[in-house]
Amino acid sequence: MGTIAVVGAGPAGMLAARQAALRGARVILLEKNDRLGKKLVITGKGRCNVTNDADVDTLVKNVPGNGRFLYSAFASFGSRDLQRFLEEHGVRLKVERGNRVFPQSDRSFDVVDGLRRALERSNAEVRLNSQVNRLLVEDGQIVGLVVNDQPLYCQAVIVCTGGASYPATGSTGDGYILAAEVGHTIVPPRPALVPLETVEDWPKSLAGLALKNVELSILQGGRKLVQEFGELLFTHFGISGPIVLTVSRWVTHGKDTNPFIASINLKPALTQEQLDRRLQRDLEKYQRKAIKNALDDLLPKRLIPVVIAAAEIPEDKPVHQITRVERMRLVSSLTSLQLTIKGPRPLSEAIVTAGGVSTKEIDPKTMQSKLVRGLFFAGEVIDVDGYTGGFNLQAAFSTGYLAGEKAGLQVTQR
Ligand SMILES: Cc1cc2nc3c(=O)[nH]c(=O)nc-3n(C[C@H](O)[C@H](O)[C@H](O)COP(=O)(O)OP(=O)(O)OC[C@H]3O[C@@H](n4cnc5c(N)ncnc54)[C@H](O)[C@@H]3O)c2cc1C
Repeated sequence: MGTIAVVGAGPAGMLAARQAALRGARVILLEKNDRLGKKLVITGKGRCNVTNDADVDTLVKNVPGNGRFLYSAFASFGSRDLQRFLEEHGVRLKVERGNRVFPQSDRSFDVVDGLRRALERSNAEVRLNSQVNRLLVEDGQIVGLVVNDQPLYCQAVIVCTGGASYPATGSTGDGYILAAEVGHTIVPPRPALVPLETVEDWPKSLAGLALKNVELSILQGGRKLVQEFGELLFTHFGISGPIVLTVSRWVTHGKDTNPFIASINLKPALTQEQLDRRLQRDLEKYQRKAIKNALDDLLPKRLIPVVIAAAEIPEDKPVHQITRVERMRLVSSLTSLQLTIKGPRPLSEAIVTAGGVSTKEIDPKTMQSKLVRGLFFAGEVIDVDGYTGGFNLQAAFSTGYLAGEKAGLQVTQR
């Protein structure tokens, strides 16, 4: 019987091992941690947004980093297949806002337990505390690997070592080294889905304030690169929250070295004229007050001094003395409150890693290396990255399934 070694017991590795074992191969799943799915348990703030209840085209569209490469993987094992698989292994699911799928229990541990059950039923062997140091290749064919400094001979290897973010979970970028050593090109890893640091330090004074239903645009050299609507969070270093994570992959310098500007529209539901009329009503109502005490109906209290400063109005100025020009400046700071982006937070703090093993050197129909026979890749180690909403886990499960299926068939049909 042919043997397959699977490196890494994250979602990609666990599904790959299970699927290869179901095809009749002897499967050994090697994980350097002392337990399965260490990153999986912290996903979705401990609730694990396992997938997005969407069709293949929608899944592809929500993976801005090489989504089309995943077409076959998503078609082989899509969101509904994953949901059925988890339910069959005892994980009851529910669909929330934005088609995000979570375990009914809101406990990511239940997803890990379901995957453990699936592995047990498939007869894949799990070896914990097993660090893979090197791949063994002869004449362009995988012949084994080195684990805890000992050789392990096998006919196929599936590398599922994840990216290089949140390294305490075990995802320390080992797969990039393993792949590069056998000739693969590694697209330089960089943070995706990551908070942004700002040059201005006023966000610090607002740390913890979350703004729902705002519009965030990223501008460079006067050009709008991307725009998102939703929730934004101020932090001690700058900005975070769902819409910031989504736009963060555009904050990477190409040839244009102009700084990136984050422009926040605090009132996207109103046109400039509607907002001006609304402001006039509020100023009328509070005409005896100072401007800093006249905007409570419009804005969260902590944000008021920032908006007034951006409009260059002294905050103690009486409302009845506010000029039309100053009011127009207020409208403008309410609709485009600007921050200069210093850069993304480091890779270690990113939700996913963009970059990784180049998709050009992997067959999208099998996940097999085009350079080394018997070598397969699955999950975040590949140069793919998706938006929040369950798309990254779906990508890991789908590629894990496809790699496991194809590697399993390859070694059992020899
Ligand atoms: C805080 C946070 C929240 C997230 N929330 C979500 C979410 O809700 N929904 C979503 O879709 N995505 C989410 N993600 C992204 C998602 O977790 C990853 O994309 C996904 O886990 C990638 O799966 P993977 O199997 O490729 O790699 P990983 O889950 O990173 O697993 C890789 C495994 O390989 C092991 N390993 C590494 N090197 C070696 C080696 N040399 N030898 C042996 N073992 C090795 C590691 O220890 C690890 O267990 C989140 C990520 C973070 C950090």
